[in-house]
Amino acid sequence: MAHEDYYKVLGVSRNATEAEIKKAYRKLAIQYHPDKNPGNKEAEEKFKEISQAYEVLSDKNKRAQYDQFGHAAFTSSGRSTHGFGGSGFHDPMDVFSQFFGGAGGGSIFEDLFGGGSSRRSASAAMDGADLRYDLEIDFEDAVYGADKKIILPRLTACDKCSSTGCEPGSGRKTCSHCGGSGQVALSQGIFSIRQTCPACQGTGEIIEKPCRQCRGSGRIHTEKTLQIHIPPGVDTGSRLRVSREGESGLRGGRPGDLYVFIHVRNHVVFHREGNDIICEMPISYAVAALGGIVEVPTISGKAKMRIPPGTQNSTILRIKGKGVPALRGGARGDMHVKVFVEVPTHLAKEQRELLEKFDAALDNYKNNPLKTEFERKAKPFLGDN
Ligand SMILES: [Zn+2]
Ligand SMILES: [Zn+2]
Repeated sequence: MAHEDYYKVLGVSRNATEAEIKKAYRKLAIQYHPDKNPGNKEAEEKFKEISQAYEVLSDKNKRAQYDQFGHAAFTSSGRSTHGFGGSGFHDPMDVFSQFFGGAGGGSIFEDLFGGGSSRRSASAAMDGADLRYDLEIDFEDAVYGADKKIILPRLTACDKCSSTGCEPGSGRKTCSHCGGSGQVALSQGIFSIRQTCPACQGTGEIIEKPCRQCRGSGRIHTEKTLQIHIPPGVDTGSRLRVSREGESGLRGGRPGDLYVFIHVRNHVVFHREGNDIICEMPISYAVAALGGIVEVPTISGKAKMRIPPGTQNSTILRIKGKGVPALRGGARGDMHVKVFVEVPTHLAKEQRELLEKFDAALDNYKNNPLKTEFERKAKPFLGDN
C-alpha cells in the first residue's frame, strides 16, 4: 500500500513547527474520529493515517528519521534497518485520548462534540447485567437430567426506595459542583475541555438523602434460591440460559439473564466421549481365552455381555443405546466396554504347576499366532552373533 506523505496527511509544510503539527492533528482527528463518522470506513482509514502521521511528526527522533528515510523507516516488513520494531504505531484511539487528556478519552470526546447533550439523565432506565453461575453436577445428572436448587447472590431492586436511591420522603437536588450541567471545565494547555462532573457522574443531580438500605444505589445484594432444570445430555461446557434471573434493572430497566455453566464431575468407572459412555474393564486371562458371559456396569444398571473366545487386550465391545441421550434430539449414545486382560499374579504352587503344564501343551503356531509371526519377522535380529 502506497503511503501518503505524512506532512501532506496533516496538511502542514515540511518545516512546520511542533505547535503547527499539534494544531493540524487536533483539527483533523476531531473531524475524522470514528464516533463522529459511524460506519464510515474511509473516515476510519483517514483517522488511522492522521494518527500515524502525528505519531511520527510529533516525535523529534522519528521525524528526523522520516525526513531522511521516508516511510521505509517505519515499515513493519522487518527489512528496514531504521525501523522501530514491529509496526511501531499505537492504537489511533490511544493517541487520540492521550492528546486530549489521558484516560477517559471517550467522555472527553463526548464533551468535545456533544455540546450540552452529553448530560446523562438521572431518570433513564438501565438494564440489569447478565450473571454467570458455575454449577457442578454428578455424571448421572448429566446423563438423566435433574432439577437443582441453587442460591444465587445478586443485585435486586431496593424495595425501601423503589430503586430510586432516595430515602423515602426525600428527592434529588441540583448538583452544586457543576450547577446541574453534568460537566465541569478543565484547562488543558491552550484548550479548555469540558469533562463529566465527578460529583454527579454527569447526571446533574445528586441525591438529597441516600436511601439507608441501598446507600443510594437503588439496588441491594440479595440471595435468591432458584430451581434449575438440567435437561438430559448436558456436558461440561453446556450453558443454560435462565431468562430475567440476572441483576435487576434500574428505573424500569430490563433485568439481565442468568447463564448457568455446567461442570460435570468425573465418575469412578465411566467417562464420556460425546454421547458414548466408556468403561475400561479388566477381565481374567481364562475368560479372555475361553470366552464367557460377564456382568458389566452401565449407567442404567448392570448388563450381561458376551466375551468372545480369544478376546485380546484393548478390545472394545459395544452395548447399543446405553450411552447418553442426545441433548437436542437424535439417537442415544452407546456404551463402550474396553476390556483389558489381567495377567494373574501371586500364583500358588499348584496354580504355577498347572500353568507350566498348560504352557508346555501350547501349540505355538496355532495358539499364539501373533507371537509366532513376530518371532519370524524378528528372526534376523534374534540370532547369536
Ligand atoms: Zn455535577
Ligand atoms: Zn434503597
